[in-house]
Amino acid sequence: MGGVEHIFDKYLRQDKLPQMWCPGCGNGIVLQAIIRAVDELGLEQDKVVVVAGVGCSGRANGYTDFCGVHTNHGRALAYATGIKMQKPELNVIVVTGDGDCTSIGGNHFIHACRRNIDLTAVVFNNSNYGMTGGQYSPTTPDGVYTKTTVYGNIDPAFDICDLARGSGATFVARSTAYHAVQLKNEIARGIGHKGFSVVEAMCDCPSLYGRINRLGTPADMISRWKDVCVQRKQADKMSAGELRGKIVIGEFVNSDARPEYTRMYAALRERAARGETV
Ligand code: SF4
Repeated sequence: MGGVEHIFDKYLRQDKLPQMWCPGCGNGIVLQAIIRAVDELGLEQDKVVVVAGVGCSGRANGYTDFCGVHTNHGRALAYATGIKMQKPELNVIVVTGDGDCTSIGGNHFIHACRRNIDLTAVVFNNSNYGMTGGQYSPTTPDGVYTKTTVYGNIDPAFDICDLARGSGATFVARSTAYHAVQLKNEIARGIGHKGFSVVEAMCDCPSLYGRINRLGTPADMISRWKDVCVQRKQADKMSAGELRGKIVIGEFVNSDARPEYTRMYAALRERAARGETV
């Protein structure tokens, strides 16, 4: 009562606040980028559905006042596919973490890419399972410490954008919590794209990943993205040696060469209704 109203208050469920992410967590920046993208595109709030998997990122669904479903672990894309098939007019955004998306839900991820269904998956990649205590995930870098790699990780990390591209996604981009405006722009482009869009949002888990790897304060961690990231256009001119240890950000795929799945399916049904063989 008597507080100052923010222009984005209408997008947040006030009864779910204050939020419970740790101080300095990057998830809030990614959530803000999603809200700003939706606002910029002028989407009707009731025509936006946020489908969440399990993990710290999944809270994004509870805090936003869009239509929403908090699903079980790794299954957000399966639920989102069902929603989009039934109501293709809705804008369906999936919020999922690196573990939820590429481990427990890895199979759903590659098949959503393959189908080219018009969903936007925002993958919050903090390189560990934050909610369950900081175990290593498929994107934990080489040599990094987590609760389950106490001598350093030896599993090769997935590159989420390469995985999406190789599986057929027609819009693929990466940005970070530091590059928040670019992140918002990529999410907006992903939502506007008619096909399966993947936006990888590199963000920080200072409480677990940061602490065990002695990465300093949340401010130190977020500044790290500035030093380690290279824009795609600049990366195209760099040698493999120069790119070692760097993370390339920007847009990797943006293609309308393949038909969108729900449109293909609608056309198929129309042909079947006319009795035409398919
Ligand atoms: Fe964020 Fe990590 Fe805390 Fe989860 S555990 S809310 S990812 S800082």
